[in-house]
Amino acid sequence: MATVKITVEGFKCERCSHEWIPRDKEKPRVCPKCKSPYWDKPRKIKK
Ligand SMILES: [Zn+2]
Repeated sequence: MATVKITVEGFKCERCSHEWIPRDKEKPRVCPKCKSPYWDKPRKIKK
């Protein structure tokens, strides 16, 4: 049996570094772990 590496597209929280795979294709509003709505934005935001 051969083993292959399967890459699954998922999300990573910028706040708590939590990684997860969404059930649906829609982008989650908050991080499932820290519940932060800014999970996809870095702490420092360039204006
Ligand atoms: Zn988080």
